[in-house]
Amino acid sequence: MLSTMQDDVPLTISRILRHGMTVHGDARITTWTGEAEPHRTTFRATGERAAQLAHALRDALGVRPEDRIATLMWNNSQHVEAYFAIPSMGSVLHTLNLRLPAEQLVFIVNHAADRVILVNGTLLPLLAPLLPRLETVEHIVVVGPGDTSVLADCAAQVHDYEELLAGRPTAYDWPELDERTAAAMCYTSGTTGDPKGVVYSHRSVYLHSMQVNMAESMGLTTADTTLPVVPMFHVNAWGLPHAVFMTGVSMLMPDRFLQPGPIAEMIAAERPTHAAAVPVIWQGLLDELAATPRDISSLKTVTIGGSACPRSMMRAFEDLHGVRVCHAWGMTETSPLGSLAHPPGGLTPEEEWPYRVTQGRFPAGVEARLAAPGGGFAPWDGSSPGELEVRGPWIADAYFGGVGKPPLRPEEKFSPDGWLRTGDVGVISPDGYLTLTDRAKDVIKSGGEWISSVELENALMAHESVAEAAVVAVSDEKWGERPLAGVVFREGCEPLPYEELCTFLGTTIARWQLPERWVTLDAVPKTSVGKFDKKVLRRQYAAGELEVTKLR
Ligand code: AMP
Repeated sequence: MLSTMQDDVPLTISRILRHGMTVHGDARITTWTGEAEPHRTTFRATGERAAQLAHALRDALGVRPEDRIATLMWNNSQHVEAYFAIPSMGSVLHTLNLRLPAEQLVFIVNHAADRVILVNGTLLPLLAPLLPRLETVEHIVVVGPGDTSVLADCAAQVHDYEELLAGRPTAYDWPELDERTAAAMCYTSGTTGDPKGVVYSHRSVYLHSMQVNMAESMGLTTADTTLPVVPMFHVNAWGLPHAVFMTGVSMLMPDRFLQPGPIAEMIAAERPTHAAAVPVIWQGLLDELAATPRDISSLKTVTIGGSACPRSMMRAFEDLHGVRVCHAWGMTETSPLGSLAHPPGGLTPEEEWPYRVTQGRFPAGVEARLAAPGGGFAPWDGSSPGELEVRGPWIADAYFGGVGKPPLRPEEKFSPDGWLRTGDVGVISPDGYLTLTDRAKDVIKSGGEWISSVELENALMAHESVAEAAVVAVSDEKWGERPLAGVVFREGCEPLPYEELCTFLGTTIARWQLPERWVTLDAVPKTSVGKFDKKVLRRQYAAGELEVTKLR
């Protein structure tokens, strides 16, 4: 029996745009400029300019459905225009991560076969040297001021964004697309091998946006202004630009002003109620506010994810600034919202903490299971670990294989029955709270037992003399693998004897798990999105470049 509902109404991004422009036309997008006044616009005007952009791309640049149009841009209102125009006209928005190494940027532009790149003028020095190696790019569209002389020898045609839009119609007859059509693509940051492309559909973006808006998620309303510090090139700024057009939440965009000083200033001046970013940004802001106090009292909640958020940071926000932190887990492959740490109801603030420091509970659209080390699946008992596998309507089913090639489903990323293997290892409590203990590839297998590198790192970083710590597995004749601990001592702190750190660790960590190999580092190597890059550390160790001390 078929339903009697309008099931043929496709879930498309143009529907989100139309809704935002009409029902929430006066909602605001404010972009920080670093000058006396920020740039201010509305959802209505942004939608009109998105229509102008679509006309320009189609009529002036000959863009066709399914063409990949790349953006190399900061978080600003023009980027939002591209976010809606490109998928709504049937083409595919490809956001380029401007922090990727040059080699990887060249790889992903060629792999996606991008025809056009929209680039912020301030990023031309980054793009120009790559251009001779970009095989498919026909047009460069420069958005905002910048030195275009660096494009003098460029084979592609160069356009000015405002000139391209000027005088074009402010409405566009958006095609009625199949909701499974590709809307946007984002390459994973690629800590191993070449970056891999995840291609989001209109349907997955639509459903994910509804999830972002749920009360047990970010739960924002028209009374809110959100500050997405998380870049629009990193998993669609966690879905916020799409989600706010559904609910009329205003946005404050930081553009290129991502240092703690300007972030503090823009919060004080524009008074957002919510913000989203990775922990490293928030640590910078806390340090900044300690040195130069600013009024950030408008902020009610911040969503923190992308890597584990230390409890001490959550506490500092709450106790010093009255800001409630919500910890979240996700991946490029999960759009990204995978879980959020809202505590159950009816608890005192103290009782809520053990729930809030976990990676949280899965929303209804995300099914989860733990693949146990010895085969089968681990129970949700809060203590049996396994590799997290997920599936759902906004979870990747494959990676982009390249133009005209079939999608890729590498065995280490997808199970035979179609679940995404996240590479994250953890436990799930009976009431569904996920606690991640490691990356599958970072777990240390010592004498048949697992040692969590993350647990060791957190325990080390709890020492007042330690600024950062990274722990990796190294091979060991007797145990198979043992932990190597790399520590960065805080500025102004004398390096401590490793024995003393071991004694400190021994207060919280089982004796057999304590590292015997130690090295002092200047800094922990980081990936393009600010996560610890342990691959570099392993390589340095293998090449004998680290001065390792072995205890006992
Ligand atoms: P990316 O695709 O670059 O966003 O990276 C996704 C990975 O980041 C996940 O597989 C996790 O390893 C890590 N990650 C994201 N959020 C968290 C979190 N809240 N706690 C710990 N790790 C996280």
